[in-house]
Amino acid sequence: MPILSEMGIDVCKVVFAIVIAMTDCLPSFFDYTCDRCGGPVCERQQIMNLALDNVDDLYCLGCLAEEQAMTQPELAEFARDYVCSRECFKTPWDAFNAKPCPKLSTQECYCQDTP
Ligand SMILES: [Zn+2]
Ligand SMILES: [Zn+2]
Repeated sequence: MPILSEMGIDVCKVVFAIVIAMTDCLPSFFDYTCDRCGGPVCERQQIMNLALDNVDDLYCLGCLAEEQAMTQPELAEFARDYVCSRECFKTPWDAFNAKPCPKLSTQECYCQDTP
């Protein structure tokens, strides 16, 4: 039944959009905001800031990548490697559950353990 399944996909898209809109408003996942663009910053991104010696300001991954002249995935990989090599960063990194990241659904999340 091709017509029905097409409709099903559309309904899924709508539900998906609502879920994204709802999770976007939830302040629980993104505890911080970027000092440069005001974008949402999660705890792992905050740890990445510290790992990159960005201690005075807190930047989102996009702004961090721009500062370092890297792409977001490049920067995230670089920061993640560094975080994993330092116990003081690794402990809070592991303690934070990045799985429910709302940015995962739009493929904009670069803070997962396995990319
Ligand atoms: Zn930013
Ligand atoms: Zn994320």
